[in-house]
Order: sequence, then C-alpha cells, then structure tokens
Amino acid sequence: MMRDPLAAVRPEIRALRAYRFAPVPEGLRAKLDFNESPADVPAEAKAAALASLGARRFALYPDFGTPRLRAALAASVGLSPEQVVPSNGSGEAILAAISILAGCGGTLLLAPPVFSLYVQMAGIAGARVATVPLVGDDFRLDEETFLARAAKGERTVPLLCSPNNPTGGTVSKDFVHRLCAVAPVVLLDQAYVDFAEDDDDVLPLLADLPNLVVFRTLSKAYSIAGLRVGYAAARPDVAEEIGKAILPFSVDLGAEEIALAVLARREEIRARCRGIARERERVAAALRALGARVAPSRANFLFLVPPDGDGARVFRDLRARGVLVRDQTDVFPGALRVTIGTPDENDLFLTTLKEVL
Ligand code: PMP
Repeated sequence: MMRDPLAAVRPEIRALRAYRFAPVPEGLRAKLDFNESPADVPAEAKAAALASLGARRFALYPDFGTPRLRAALAASVGLSPEQVVPSNGSGEAILAAISILAGCGGTLLLAPPVFSLYVQMAGIAGARVATVPLVGDDFRLDEETFLARAAKGERTVPLLCSPNNPTGGTVSKDFVHRLCAVAPVVLLDQAYVDFAEDDDDVLPLLADLPNLVVFRTLSKAYSIAGLRVGYAAARPDVAEEIGKAILPFSVDLGAEEIALAVLARREEIRARCRGIARERERVAAALRALGARVAPSRANFLFLVPPDGDGARVFRDLRARGVLVRDQTDVFPGALRVTIGTPDENDLFLTTLKEVL
C-alpha cells in the first residue's frame, strides 16, 4: 500500500493556510488591493532596460552576486555594496533572515496586524511566532510590552514593519535604538518607506547599530513588482550570513536591468511618491468625513473601518462595482485596506464607496 505523502509534510506547514487571493473580477475599474504603484515604470526606463536586456546572452547565468545591481542599490541609499544583499523581491531576503536567525526553533516576535506572510515564513523556517498586538485607535506599537518580550529568550527575533502593512504606522528611531539594545538582532521591513517622511528612514542607524537588519523593495515606489527586486541591508558580516540563505542567481537578468534603469531615475520616483502621499492624505480626509475610522498612514495605503463597521459587505459591494480593495476582516473586525491609486482611481473609490454605504 502506498503511503500518504501528506503525512510526510511537516505539521507546521500543514497547519498554514496557503496564501490565496480571490480572482480579479471582470469589469475591473480600479485595482487597489496589492499596494502596487498606480503608474508603470517611466517609459524611457523601460526602453533602456529592454535595450540592455536584448544585448545580453540569455544562455549565461547573471553575474554572480549581481555586483552592478548591488552597487546601484547601495549607492541609492548611501551604503557600501558589502552592506547590501540583493534578492528576488524583498520577501526572499526576509525569509532568508528569518531562517538563519529564528529558524529551527527560535521565535519570531511580531506586532499584529502585520504582513501575513511573516507567519508563513516563520512556518517555512521552523520558527515559532510570538505576538504583541498594536494598540489604540491609531494602531500604535505597545513599545514597553514589545521591548519586554523581545528581551526574553536568546532566540527571540523581533520583526517590525515600518510603515506597517496593513495599518500604515511607523516606529520611531528612538524605539529602534532601545530595541537593538535588548534584542540580539532586530529585523525591520521598510517596504513602504518611500511614501513616508525622511525621518522614518532607519538606514542611517546602521552606522551605529550592528544588530539591525533592514529590508527594502523596488516593488512599490519603484513600480517593478512584476520583475522582483528587493534587498537586505546590514553590517557586512551579517549581510554575508543572510546571503548564504539565498540561492545563487535568484535575481535574474531582466530584473537586474530594469532595477538599474529605475534606480537611475530616483528623482522622478521620489516626486511620484510625494504625489501619492498627498493623495493619501486627501483620501483619508474624505473617508473620515464619511464617518470611517482611518488609521494614520505613512504608506501608499489606508487601513479603515467603514462607518457601518461591515468591511466584508463593503468589500463585496465595491468589488461588484469593479473596485477591488483588500478585505482585512480576518485581521481586524470590519477592516479594509485600500491602496492609493491615481487621483482618478481614488475618486472612483470614494464615489463608489458613497454609493454602497
Ligand atoms: N514586506 C511587506 C510589508 C510587503 O507588504 C510586501 C509585499 N506586499 C513585501 C515585503 C514583499 O514584497 P516584494 O517581495 O515584492 O519585495
């Protein structure tokens, strides 16, 4: 008799819910569910990347360690190349860091509601998860409780997201200092920092904090979610250890070329991000005027509970009218997350929301 292969799957993997999304509805008018950029990469950047890509030999592996990309990523944030580990989207670098630091029986400390894939990654790495939930109407980090929990246990690794997905709040530099003083190592995901204030950028702290690891992505502000480039930034010797858990050649030629092209247009990208941040404040004010509870956000999305408190129904009714947002009722009662799109998409979201309320 054949044995059941599922019995061979680790129990913590069986226990995970597979990451799944409802199919994109027909007649989609605004896709505001994935925190993607509303604009594609600048046309000249796309043309330059395609021309460079066309000149390369696809039969060959990429340059080992993607040195050009590594140097460009590092230069874009004022670090040295040795401090940067490029990855196939930032998710890959986060999984690598969780694996080498909390894997095989360590504990990943999270502050939910937070990016749901972290729990998935902990499961893959064989890490336990401990949580200190966000508090209050503005979903603040419960700093003292988090610090106390982080200080407990040699193999506890805190992972914070700032700005936080899905709530949008940030952690202060002062808190990062305090956390680094009590935890062996601190992981900080800054996927959305390009939409935040200059002071929210924690990379300058790397100079003083040897146990800080920061993750960044080009999937959001830089509009290349479709080509998968992110990175970890840390002290060179820590970066090297993270690199060991990333397979060679994980960033392919196409991703490398488009990343180089968008990194060369940082001023244009920065201007776009400022526009999205302005739109975010406009949409947040309009939602509050409608009676929604809206968390203060420094990202390219808003976390809200509609006036009637029934996020699941509002999600369905918006979807039926071609406006796709994220149902977050599984992480907070009645909640939705909406990505900031173009001004037209944001207006469409607001008018459609008024129709369904
Ligand atoms: N971190 C956070 C907080 C995210 O929201 C996402 C994507 N939704 C990622 C990391 C991963 O992004 P990517 O792998 O595309 O860089």
